[in-house]
Amino acid sequence: MSIPIIIFLGPPGCGKGTHAKLLAERAGAGHFDLGSLLRGIAKSGSPRGVELTGFMSKGLLVPDTLIIEIVRDALSERVKTNPPPALLLDGFPRTVAQAEALEKVAASIELGPVSVININLPNELIVERIANRRVCNKCGAIFDVLEFSGKECPKCKSGQLIQRDDDKAEVVRRRLEEYAAKTAPLLQFYGKKGKLVSVVSDAPVEVVRERVYGAYKQIQPK
Ligand code: AMP
Repeated sequence: MSIPIIIFLGPPGCGKGTHAKLLAERAGAGHFDLGSLLRGIAKSGSPRGVELTGFMSKGLLVPDTLIIEIVRDALSERVKTNPPPALLLDGFPRTVAQAEALEKVAASIELGPVSVININLPNELIVERIANRRVCNKCGAIFDVLEFSGKECPKCKSGQLIQRDDDKAEVVRRRLEEYAAKTAPLLQFYGKKGKLVSVVSDAPVEVVRERVYGAYKQIQPK
């Protein structure tokens, strides 16, 4: 049986990662977080990791050929060893070439149909949110310093809350430019196919969580 895919789109800092995680838990779906996967490879210090770091530390998108290879391997492995009832893709695709590659990969490993939840946020709120974002260096939980200003992670109680290198102001500016130039065209790509529902994340997490769940219900195959 084919595994439905829900793609999470949205600019950096819109809350995409948080809401993909929350929806995956609520809907009993799998969560594929490409940014975390890439950060893990980068940290390993392998030749591929060093190559990834060169792009990621500058806020640039990693070239499509490399991303497509990594994602193809990771998705095939996931479907083979631990197939979820549905899969949320967080951070992939981020370019039209990646979206086209996903169609091919999905057809070959029985993933699909594809639908998209797009999370929107005005630029000034994005910059503020990213500046306030802290991430646990152990479990990956995300916090806003305005809501929790401690240093130790209150979730796993052993990690430290840190600012990601690519959340620093200069890098964020570059990531927003990359989003506008390369990722935003996906809104048209999927919009034309009639598979996209948008949600605005200009409200507290619990409110946006309900909006995202509403969007999920809307795109459920009938
Ligand atoms: P994220 O945590 O999803 O914001 O991703 C962090 C960084 O990983 C991005 O700024 C990019 O450098 C890289 N990255 C993540 N996903 C992709 C993708 N689909 N294509 C190219 N680069 C990516």
